[in-house]
Amino acid sequence: MAFITILNFPNFTLEEKNELGKTWSREEWAYARMGDMFTSRVPASLRKEAGQANADAENYIANYNIMMGHLLNDKGQKLFPEDMVLLTHWNLRDEIKSNYANPTNGLEKQEMICRVLEHIVQGTIPQAVINNPAYEWAPASNRTWENGKEVTLEAENNRRYEHILAHFKAMKKVDAYEPQQPSGIIRNFEGGMEILPREIEDLFINLVSSPQVKQASKLIQKKLKRKLRPYDIWYDGFKSRSTISEDELSTKTRSNYPTPEAFEADMPRMLEALGFSKEDATFLASKIRVEGARGSGHAWGASGRWQNSLLRTRIGKEGMDYKGYNIAVHEFGHNVEQTIDLYHIDHYTLNGVPNTGFTEALAFVFQKRDLQLLGYDQQVDDNTTLDIFWGLYEIMGVSLVDMYMWQWLYAHPDATANELKDATVAIAKDVWNKYYYPVLGEKDSSILACYSHMVNAAMYLPNYPLGHIIEFQLEEHFAKCESKKAFADEIMRIYKLGRLTPNQWMQEAVGANVSTTPILNAVDAILKKK
Ligand SMILES: [Zn+2]
Repeated sequence: MAFITILNFPNFTLEEKNELGKTWSREEWAYARMGDMFTSRVPASLRKEAGQANADAENYIANYNIMMGHLLNDKGQKLFPEDMVLLTHWNLRDEIKSNYANPTNGLEKQEMICRVLEHIVQGTIPQAVINNPAYEWAPASNRTWENGKEVTLEAENNRRYEHILAHFKAMKKVDAYEPQQPSGIIRNFEGGMEILPREIEDLFINLVSSPQVKQASKLIQKKLKRKLRPYDIWYDGFKSRSTISEDELSTKTRSNYPTPEAFEADMPRMLEALGFSKEDATFLASKIRVEGARGSGHAWGASGRWQNSLLRTRIGKEGMDYKGYNIAVHEFGHNVEQTIDLYHIDHYTLNGVPNTGFTEALAFVFQKRDLQLLGYDQQVDDNTTLDIFWGLYEIMGVSLVDMYMWQWLYAHPDATANELKDATVAIAKDVWNKYYYPVLGEKDSSILACYSHMVNAAMYLPNYPLGHIIEFQLEEHFAKCESKKAFADEIMRIYKLGRLTPNQWMQEAVGANVSTTPILNAVDAILKKK
């Protein structure tokens, strides 16, 4: 089957798809997707090696805990609860976020966590303090104590970078068996995301260097009543303030949705409330099953028309609380996307979306309208937009560092872990000094390299900003719809496009390539009001 497919359906590069695809018929697009199916024959042993390198990195990160109760400030005082243990980098970052609401010593805690992150990136953290409560550690001076007596401990040094290097070496071996996409970078961007690295770079730099960032930072400075610091990339104060209390909302969602079945039964009404015709609403809802979940929830797409997609959501004993409802509406958006582009697609090989950002975008579009679906008069909230924008500013910098690190590795395939460490720190500082130092101060900060994904999920980070970029492109387009019906009709039309390339999909959806201009426009309009 594979050889017959290869002989009959040529594999086109991303640039060929974007160029030739402008005039392809739907059938020609479907043929091009056939040509993507069998492009490599990587020996199982090499796949296993790459899998093992990744599993080792996962394990390294999963055990990278900081014992917060054993951190000391310069006066030898502890700031955090004795038994507090935080995983790098997620928990550390979230602890910085949560301390904006702490007027007592929030600032000091944030400064301390920021120093911890710098030590992790630079390999200067004492190895023995990781996941180990036996020592006291003062991150500012980098001194350590055991039972009150000062001790010298060895630094972690290159361990973080050895894991990245092992993954890179395994990836390099695979390259020889991928004639169409002979590097991990090409496979990730041109193959997986279907956007060229230089296009991603342009998109991100357009936002992180925008005047809107500077203006938003002034707003934050005014709210915090102090000069900004590097960790303010995680500023958490643009939260939407609904006029309805969360308790009131939870009372309503609990009574509406005591069980998964109750949510499932209400889906046709919700879709009609958004503007879908009775026929479309009934059909889409009939292809989605709702089940209870132990985690926060997710949407599982069907692989063929013989299956339903699954919406898994968390429902407590007293019913679905508001937080759970908000997430369920997000997942519902995913399920609707999964159903439209499977059941209404004209050619099976075109089913789906160009990449994960495109399904996230519809999930965000739904999630933002959650109060409307509960019967409230929901306004688009300025703070939510500013919050998303500031989040993009942060994650795009982190993503650029990740991208540049892998590019450096391919340019220096014989590098040692030590050279990789130095290069990564230099890249992080360079990105910081160009786009963050002018806004947040402190030259040469390396915190942009602190994300664990850089170690255990090669080149995944650039996916995160895409969902919101696409969401704002769609919202700018939907704003021109004159009725709810027109809005729902556009969702149906656009998500029937299926798995074109991102730029071709966006051209047919809204008449432009993937672009950060709409989110910048939206932020601009808000900043002008302030
Ligand atoms: Zn999602």
